[in-house]
Amino acid sequence: NFYKTNPTKEKLNNLSIEETHQNSAASGGSSRNSENAEPSVSTDNLPGTSQAPAQTVASTLSASLPQQQQNPTFRIRSRTAAINEHLASQSENFESLDYDVCENVLFQKEQERISSTRFSLRKDILRWIIFIQIGIITALIACAIDIVIEELSSLKYEFLKHSVDINVPHQDNPVGDLAIPYLYWLGLSMLPVALGAAMVTYIEPITAGSGIPQVKSYLNGVKVPRIVRIKTLAVKSIGVITSVVGGLAGGKEGPMIHAGAVVAAGISQGKSTTFVKDFRIFKAFRDDHEKRDFVLGGAAAGVAAAFGSPIGGMLFSLEEAASFWNQNLIWRTLVASIISSFTLNIVLSAYHGLGDFTFTGLFNLGKFEQPLTFEYYELPIFMIFGITGGLLGALWNMLNTKINKFRSRFIKFKFGKVMEAVLVALIGVSLACTMIYFINDCRPLGNDPTDYPTQLFCEDNEYNAVAALWFQTPEATVRSLFHDPPGSHKILSLTLFTLIYFLLSCFTFGLNVSLGVFIPTALVGAAWGRLVAMVAYYVFPTAAFLNPGKYALIGAAANLGGVLRMTISLTVILMETTGIETSFFFPLIITLISAKWVGDYFNEGIYDIQVKVNHVPMLPWEPLPHYMGLKASNIMSSPVVCIKLRDKSKYIYDILNRYKHNGFPVVDDVEGNDRSKGRVCGIILRSQLIVILLKSLYEEKKRFWINETSIQTFRDVYPRYPSIDNVRMHDDKVNYTVNLDIFMNPSPVCSREHDSVQKIFNKFRALGLRHLIVVDKENRVSGIITRKDFLYK
Ligand code: ATP
Repeated sequence: NFYKTNPTKEKLNNLSIEETHQNSAASGGSSRNSENAEPSVSTDNLPGTSQAPAQTVASTLSASLPQQQQNPTFRIRSRTAAINEHLASQSENFESLDYDVCENVLFQKEQERISSTRFSLRKDILRWIIFIQIGIITALIACAIDIVIEELSSLKYEFLKHSVDINVPHQDNPVGDLAIPYLYWLGLSMLPVALGAAMVTYIEPITAGSGIPQVKSYLNGVKVPRIVRIKTLAVKSIGVITSVVGGLAGGKEGPMIHAGAVVAAGISQGKSTTFVKDFRIFKAFRDDHEKRDFVLGGAAAGVAAAFGSPIGGMLFSLEEAASFWNQNLIWRTLVASIISSFTLNIVLSAYHGLGDFTFTGLFNLGKFEQPLTFEYYELPIFMIFGITGGLLGALWNMLNTKINKFRSRFIKFKFGKVMEAVLVALIGVSLACTMIYFINDCRPLGNDPTDYPTQLFCEDNEYNAVAALWFQTPEATVRSLFHDPPGSHKILSLTLFTLIYFLLSCFTFGLNVSLGVFIPTALVGAAWGRLVAMVAYYVFPTAAFLNPGKYALIGAAANLGGVLRMTISLTVILMETTGIETSFFFPLIITLISAKWVGDYFNEGIYDIQVKVNHVPMLPWEPLPHYMGLKASNIMSSPVVCIKLRDKSKYIYDILNRYKHNGFPVVDDVEGNDRSKGRVCGIILRSQLIVILLKSLYEEKKRFWINETSIQTFRDVYPRYPSIDNVRMHDDKVNYTVNLDIFMNPSPVCSREHDSVQKIFNKFRALGLRHLIVVDKENRVSGIITRKDFLYK
C-alpha cells in the first residue's frame, strides 16, 4: 500500500550508505507529520488489501483494531484514512506534468542568448503556425474518419434493407425468413465491434471510451500514460470507426477531441519518439508547459471538427477541458478551431459535391427550415425539461458508474472485455429487431427521414418508421428527430426507442471500445423531448407551439446538460450545429442551466465521475471543504529525501533506485549526514538526475562537457526520459561528485508549516506545481507536498 509502506520512512531507515538519516526513527518517520496524525495501522497482513474495495479494507481494518481504539471518532478517522490510502495506491500509476518551468542556469543562459525581439517574434510566429497546422491536420483526420464511417454504414444499411426486402413474407414469397437479415445484422455489428474492442483491449487500452476525461486530466497536470502517442491516435481512429459502423450506442465526437489532442502534442514537438525521427524544429516548445497549450488547442480543434462549431470548440476547451487559461490562449485556440472547421467544411463539401461550403461538421444536425420561435409561457416548460434532463442525467450517470464498477470488478480478463462489447452489440441488434418486428408503425413514403426506407410489413408506398429509427447511424437519427415532420412516429415506438437507447447507451459507455457519449445522450434527449411534445399535442391538439422538432432539440439539450453538466459551450455547439437564431439562445441556456443545477445536486458530470473512478489525481478548481482548519504540516510528507548541492554520484544513484519520487529538494548547510533537515537551495527532478548520470556530467569531468551541455541536452530526451535502469554505475564512477548548481531549479515554491492548506492549494493549483517544499523559519526542509497529498490525506 502506497502510504502505509511510506517509502520515505521505511527506506530511509534502511539506507545502508554512510549518509543514512539519523532522525527518521526519532521523528516517527510518519508521512503525516502532525499532531492530528492518524494512527499507523498496518494493512499488510490483510488478505487482498491491494485489490479489495476501499470499504472492505476499511471495515476489515476497524474489526482488527484493539479495544481502546474502537471509539466512534477513532473508527471514522481510521476508515477515512484507509479509504484514502486505498485511493492513493490506486493513483500510483499517475505522475504529474511539469507545468512550472524550471528556470535553472542552463535555461537562463539560453534566455540571455536569445533575448531579442526578433527571437520572441519568431517564437510567436512559430506558435501560430503550429496552431494552424493542428487545425488542418485534426480536420483531415476527422474527414477521413467520417468518410470511412459514412461509406461503410451506407453499405451496411443498404445491404440490410435489401435483405429485409427480399426476405419479408409477401405475395411472391409467402413464407419469407426474417431470421436471415437478423443474422446478417448481427454479423455486421458484432464483427466490427469485436475488431475494435480487440484492438483497444490488446493494443492500446488507453483508447477506450471517449478520451475526454483523459485529455482533461492531462490538461490538469496529470501524466496519463500513453495518452498522446501516435499509436493511440491510430487505434482510437480505427476503434471509433468500428464502433460506429458496428452500431454501438456512441458517437465519434469524443474520440475526435482526443485525436486533436494527440495531433497537437505530436506536431508541436517537431519529432516523433515512436518513429525515432527528429525534424529538428520547434525545439523551444519541448516542455510540458508549452505542450499543454497546444494540446488545449488540439482539443478545441477536435470539437470544432466534430461539431462544425469553432466558437463552441473554444468554449468547450474553456469550460470543460482547460485547467489553465490566459488571454493569448483564447485567440490561439479560436484560430485552431476556425481553421479546423473550415478545412473540414471544404473537404467534406467537396467530397459530397456541394458547390457552397455548407458541410460544417461531423455531427451534422441539419438546419431548421423555419426559424425556431418560442412564447414567453414556454419558458417554464423549458425549465421543466431542464429539470427532467437533470434528473435523467443524474440517473444515467449513477447507473453507468455502477455498471462500470461492476465491470472493473468482475470482467478482468482481456478476452472477457472483448466478449462483453460483442454481447452488448448482440443485445442492441436483438432489441432493435424485436422492436421493428412487433411494432407496426407505417408512414407514407415521402416523409421518410432515412436513406433506406424499409417497407417490411407496411403497404406499398409506406415505410416502417421504427426501422427508420434503427437503420442509420445514431447521429442521423438525432437529425431525423429534430427535423421529421409532425406525425412521423407512433408514441409507442418512440417510448420504447427512448427506453432501449437509454439503457443501451448506459451499458455501452465504459465498454472497452472507442466511443463518445455525446451523440447517444443527445439522441435519448431528442427522443424523449419529441415524445413529450407528441403526447402533449395529443392531449392539447390546439397547442400549435408544440413543435416536435423544437422540443426534440430542447430535450437533447436537457439530457446533455444532465449527463455532461456543461452549459455555455453546449448551448453554442447546439446553436452552431443546427444553425438556429440567436434568439433561441435563451431557451437553450435556461434548459441547460436547470439540468446542470438539478444534476449537480445528485452527482457530478460523467467525465468527472470517470476521472474519479479511474483514481486520476486531478486537482479540483477550488480547495475542498475538508481543508478548512488544516495546515501544511497536516498533509506534508516527512522526512523528505533530499540531495546535497554537491553530492556523490553513488548516493544519487542509490536514491533513484530506492525511491520512486520524481522530485528532490536540493539542500546545503547539512548537519552531519542528515540531508532531510538541510537548507533549501533548489529542487531537482528525477528525470534531470538520470540525464546527469547517463551523460556523466560530473564535476571532476566538467571541462569535457561544460561547453556542449545546454538546456537542449535535457530537451532532447523529452518526453520519454530514460529510467534509472538505463544507468550503469561502474566502480570508477562512484566517487565522482555531481554539482547540481546549474541543473536544479533554484527557485522552488515553498511554504511554511503553519500555512493553511487552502492557501497552499491555491498556490499549487494556480502555478501548476508538481512539488511544494515546506520549510521552517530557517529555510530548512520540513516536508514536501505533491498533488496526491491534497487528495488523499
Ligand atoms: P508525481 O507523481 O506527482 O510526479 P512524485 O512522484 O515526486 O510526483 P508523488 O508520487 O505524488 O510524488 O508522491 C507520493 C508521496 O511521496 C506523497 O505523499 C509525497 O508527499 C511523497 N514525496 C514526494 N517526493 C518526496 C521526497 N523527495 N521525499 C519524501 N517524500 C516524498
